[in-house]
Amino acid sequence: MSLSTTIETPAGKYEQPLGLFINNEWVKGAEGKTFETINPSNEKVITSVHEATEKDVDIAVKAARAAFEGVWHTVTPSERGRKLTKLADLFEQHIETLASIESLDNGKSLTMAKVDVTNAAGCLRYYGGWADKIHGQTIDTNPETLSYTRHEPIGVCGQIIPWNFPLLMWSWKIGPAVASGNTVVMKTAEQTPLSALYACKLIVEAGFPPGVINMLSGFGRTAGAALSSHMDIDKIAFTGSTMVGRSIMQAAAKSNLKKVTLELGGKSPNIVFDDADIDNAISWANFGIFFNHGQCCCAGSRLLVQEGIYDKFVARFKERAAANKLGDPFAADTFQGPQVSQLQFDRIMEYINHGKNEGATVALGGDRHGKEGYFIQPTVFTDVTHDMKIAQEEIFGPVITVQKFKDEADAIKIGNSTSYGLAAAVHTKNVNTAIRVSNALKAGTVWINSYNLISYQAPFGGFKTSGLGRELGSYALENYTQVKTVHYRLGDALF
Ligand code: NAD
Repeated sequence: MSLSTTIETPAGKYEQPLGLFINNEWVKGAEGKTFETINPSNEKVITSVHEATEKDVDIAVKAARAAFEGVWHTVTPSERGRKLTKLADLFEQHIETLASIESLDNGKSLTMAKVDVTNAAGCLRYYGGWADKIHGQTIDTNPETLSYTRHEPIGVCGQIIPWNFPLLMWSWKIGPAVASGNTVVMKTAEQTPLSALYACKLIVEAGFPPGVINMLSGFGRTAGAALSSHMDIDKIAFTGSTMVGRSIMQAAAKSNLKKVTLELGGKSPNIVFDDADIDNAISWANFGIFFNHGQCCCAGSRLLVQEGIYDKFVARFKERAAANKLGDPFAADTFQGPQVSQLQFDRIMEYINHGKNEGATVALGGDRHGKEGYFIQPTVFTDVTHDMKIAQEEIFGPVITVQKFKDEADAIKIGNSTSYGLAAAVHTKNVNTAIRVSNALKAGTVWINSYNLISYQAPFGGFKTSGLGRELGSYALENYTQVKTVHYRLGDALF
């Protein structure tokens, strides 16, 4: 199979790389394997890409190690920043192509894919700005000693990303790693390999030396596992399911105790008090769960509504959700596209059936949409109790459970009643209630009178089983640097 192909999307033709990207070159996998990637809108094969296995991980790690110890070491922090800024500019110049690949391979609407590309560019530029502002401290330990710290890069970073925001996750991981002077071997999700490979063309154009960023298409059990257990990877960053997150941590512990950051699942409560601005809360609740077809780790999948407005709120929320336009990701008015894969479609339908069998009421949807593609109707469950599986486990689809609560204490108790702690939201006009409840919620992010607002300038990550460490903002730099303390003795020998 060749190393590139021409692909036609409704937005135009482009040249798609298909190889593994190692040392700034496109290569075939060592075992000669390839795998197909499917268009989730019509279930047809888009193309095949070359597959990385353990051997390729080794080759890529060697390239990243050589770059880390060699050329990347000689590039000044300001120059690293300039390269990231150039990459951000290139993302913006190629927005039409990048977004159309994302819509084709992932199924998200072209409009939303463009927002992803814009935010990915913003994230790369933001970390470009940080590259020459990563400083240690001088510490006044003793008049005869100069003590200072250096924030040094960790080394070779393995990064494993999911399929729900392929390019955005690419930028969240590459931005801080490269700004801090590390080199990267990334494995993309097997469902969505294409946009990341196209972005590697831009890496070359931005002037990154060979080996600094390496990109592997492949599967979790093989290439992903090889990364997390590799003896020459110094740090692993992962976004995906909590179950795989646990196995990554185990592999890191059993191999070389590489540093680990995990951004995992969620079952986030979206809490609406009686005194909330109802129109506003309905819009955010709808966006909170149905944005990206419910495939967000921070999706507001548990709607908690206070009893005074419950009936009115649920009736209007259902109307709002029923009006969401499902269909072709390339159509201008599409809000919700297909789920990413047959597997995800099946998992979600299984949860919906489970909810029905558990005794919850399907107030809206509950079925597939159309006959072709992995489309699922926006689904609203009422009569839900918080011990039900659909109220506890991450469904990762367009499915929301609605529960009634009495008062503030009740809302906090239900809000905190899952093993997750990624995000939460509070809707109220009372500032004191908003602050009190947001303080009491065990979540890494709390939105007040809004939902899903994420900025690359502010940290993002989970409490409890939702993860370890923080991505974005200056906080992410801590994941990619290690502190060295240097004591320089100025005076005579002490002993
Ligand atoms: P997953 O966790 O299996 O996959 C995410 C990434 O991890 C992919 O790149 C995959 O290849 C890799 N991976 C899988 N097994 C691995 C292993 N043993 N070692 C190393 N890497 C491995 O997620 P999925 O199967 O695609 O989706 C399952 C569920 O995960 C979803 O329903 C959802 O609940 C959750 N999920 C969460 C996020 C998130 O943003 N937190 C993203 C995707 C999926």
